[in-house]
Amino acid sequence: MNMLKDLLKNVKDKFYDDGQEIKISELKSQVDIPDDLWLKCPKCNATLVRDDVEKENMVCTKCGYHFRISAKERIDMIADTNTFIEYDKEMHSVNPIGFDGYEQKLRKQKSISGLNEAVVTGECTINSYPCAIGAMDSKFLMGSMGSVVGEKIARLFERAIEKRLPVIIFTASGGARMQEGIISLMQMAKTSAAVKKHSEAGLLYIAVPTDPTTGGVTASFASLGDIIISEPKTLIGFAGRRVIEGTIKQKLPEEFQSAEFLLEHGFVDMIVHRKAMKNVLAKLLRYHSEKEV
Ligand SMILES: [Zn+2]
Repeated sequence: MNMLKDLLKNVKDKFYDDGQEIKISELKSQVDIPDDLWLKCPKCNATLVRDDVEKENMVCTKCGYHFRISAKERIDMIADTNTFIEYDKEMHSVNPIGFDGYEQKLRKQKSISGLNEAVVTGECTINSYPCAIGAMDSKFLMGSMGSVVGEKIARLFERAIEKRLPVIIFTASGGARMQEGIISLMQMAKTSAAVKKHSEAGLLYIAVPTDPTTGGVTASFASLGDIIISEPKTLIGFAGRRVIEGTIKQKLPEEFQSAEFLLEHGFVDMIVHRKAMKNVLAKLLRYHSEKEV
């Protein structure tokens, strides 16, 4: 198996044996290799050995693409070992407007993601600096914001005010949750008000929009950070490219809605590689810390 891994490190989709082209996908079908050993990079199409990508914090070893990761993986990468204490873990959505099929959809999403909702919140330390932390999970209904996501975010800020903690939130969202109608739209005002109270208490909020952050989440707490940090090539926007182009009847720039474009235009303050994220956050917490750690 190790030989095979070494071989795969040096090839993308195909290699040559005695002049004959062999495609990795065909090789896979001929030998019994567990599927989770391989990973395909959606950016450069390279076939990668999962172990190698995991060692690089789920970043493509060929082109640097940052794979989408779960809320749990995100918190594991950022929080000091065994320091994360989760808030409101059991909170789950009901069907407030009687949307057809919503309960079944929620049940399915829970079993796929292993989560009760699209955001995980709690507190932890980062290089010994305490903070309140939230991470959204795009695997749960595309990280959409309904009543529970909004409530968990608002409670995160409220607890952070009580405990005088800074807040860091990694967002990943398709926007408001249409199955909750107007109630999901209200979460934009609720979360924004919670951010404001936290800010008035003189506390730091770092927003980290990750790929993809769009819709009502961009239009509320994801864009209200005192500092906004992102990862390379992250998609951050409100409406999709096609909708905007159709509305304004103009072609948008290639890099539009990327973290790089938004850095250039002042929306994002810093783009940080995933490997450096923990140390950068710890440094910012240290600069703004109320006490010495
Ligand atoms: Zn790649």
